Amino acid sequence: METKIQFLGTSDSQGVPRMLCSCAVCKSTDNKRSRPSVFIHTSRKILVDASPDFRQQFIDGDLCIPDILCITHAHNDHIAGLGDLADLCFWHESKLTIISPPDVIDILKQRYPYLTPKRNIFFTPLHQMDVDGVHISFHRVNHGNNGYSYGIRFSNQTSSWAYVSDVINMTTEQMVPFYHLSLLILGASYLDESNYPFQYKRSIYDVREALLLREKLQPEKLILTHMSHNIDITKNILPEGVWFGKDGMCIML
Ligand SMILES: [Zn+2]
Ligand SMILES: [Zn+2]
Repeated sequence: METKIQFLGTSDSQGVPRMLCSCAVCKSTDNKRSRPSVFIHTSRKILVDASPDFRQQFIDGDLCIPDILCITHAHNDHIAGLGDLADLCFWHESKLTIISPPDVIDILKQRYPYLTPKRNIFFTPLHQMDVDGVHISFHRVNHGNNGYSYGIRFSNQTSSWAYVSDVINMTTEQMVPFYHLSLLILGASYLDESNYPFQYKRSIYDVREALLLREKLQPEKLILTHMSHNIDITKNILPEGVWFGKDGMCIML
């Protein structure tokens, strides 16, 4: 079965334009980005992360209610849309299964204590799962100064792809699930932070490092997401096989 991956949001935690910023990227019309999330249309409808912009993304993307929500980690830019999504499920009597490892599910339950099966929300703590021929697995990756997050790997009979939005300094061991994918969606917040004096405070790769990682992991396609206002996606600076993500863009696998 063909899989369609729809990019709902491709910005960093602050969005583009940033509030109160008048830089060239924030002023440009081609760099409007909402907070990071993708929707996977396959045998089931899978939403990856519920961004603070979920409501607008749902309307703009002409989406249907997902069957499954996979959460990468419990940071605000990845979960703050959960209340809106839960309301949508409740009012449309649609059941939502939320999948993430137990540590993430625990935080979600604390933050959204009113979300229960009575409201059609089913928290499902696990590291991997098979849904209608799609294997989904969560893999812990370094998130620098922000601790850790999970990269999510998906595979079916024809292809394998992964969403790793918040990662830096991956160890060789952490790379293992992400070799030779059909598509890797990787977070890169800035173009080049090599001169940033507080390297220990960083939490996400820059574009320069993302391209180096690509040489190791060798995905067929690499799409960058989680991009701040430091990145102008209209600039043609990427090698063949690598793209800047864009809100609304769709990829067929
Ligand atoms: Zn993030
Ligand atoms: Zn994060």
